Amino acid sequence: MIRESLELFTLFLASQTSNALPYWPYKQYNLPDSRKSYLLQILTRQNYPSTNETKVSAQSDHNEVSEIHEGSKVRETGEAKEIREAKEIKSAKKFGRPAVPILNYHWVVPENHPNAFQRYYQTKGQLRNTIENMKKKGYNFITVSELERLISDYDSTKLDTTKYALLTFDDGLECFYKNAYPILLEENVKATLFVTTVCIDDSVSGPYLSWKQIKEMYESGLIDVQSHTHNSHVITGKNESLVTSMKRGEDSLTYCLRIFADFLKSRWEIEEHVGNKVIALAWPFGLSNAVARKMASLAGFKLYFNVNGESFKFGKEYRDLPRIEVGELEKTTKVQNQK
Ligand SMILES: [Zn+2]
Repeated sequence: MIRESLELFTLFLASQTSNALPYWPYKQYNLPDSRKSYLLQILTRQNYPSTNETKVSAQSDHNEVSEIHEGSKVRETGEAKEIREAKEIKSAKKFGRPAVPILNYHWVVPENHPNAFQRYYQTKGQLRNTIENMKKKGYNFITVSELERLISDYDSTKLDTTKYALLTFDDGLECFYKNAYPILLEENVKATLFVTTVCIDDSVSGPYLSWKQIKEMYESGLIDVQSHTHNSHVITGKNESLVTSMKRGEDSLTYCLRIFADFLKSRWEIEEHVGNKVIALAWPFGLSNAVARKMASLAGFKLYFNVNGESFKFGKEYRDLPRIEVGELEKTTKVQNQK
């Protein structure tokens, strides 16, 4: 299916001329004229990128994962600290830089919230603990845009042992503004929001952020805003989402165009409302395929994020960057502490 879709999409691109406007994506989304010519430019581009993809291993690295959280429970002895630092230098030598944990949050709630401590819910206290532990271990918090610059400037021959970490928050939930943002401000820590743009300013289907709140947070200089698709955050089957599967009655080409237009729409919405450059896409439920990565790259995205549970390593061949779900992290740490 994937190969067929890519071939069809390539054929479609090749068949377009500057006079034949592709009718599909902007019709659905009522794109303004200024955007139509840009879309046309992309859709008619002949230098279609190659289809070689490298699959990222989904294997977890529990040692690195547990290291982040264990600090709160175990006081580090002098000897343990030396061993840990030696390990970090060894890891930096192997990859040019130490591995980067990219944590993934959803809901941040008060301690007495009925759903506190469930998989997608972290309490304000847990967030603050994680930040303080990681600060103690010497991590510097950066945004996804800053990580992108580090990746583009990466030089494997230069050893740099600076430790970086990222906090990312998915879906664009209003609790981020109420419960997480004040902690980030107090701690002076950077974070990245991955917003599902169709939900923003939508108070009917859930407590989502408004563009006004997002803009205010972006202007603080601490919060980066990136995409979690426009309207494709829908699960359609086991390990399948609207990004990875065709809708009923859809052919391969229509599928390609639908997700392409959706990715582009989300990027433009954020850029118009917030004013930043959008370069990263977090896959809904962490799910993607080769077609989705290709369409996202055509729509202008440079980095994609899944939730494979590993830390990101510089210099390793990657397509999707791994993130660690903090709910999973709690579970892992709990299991290890019980042993
Ligand atoms: Zn999500």
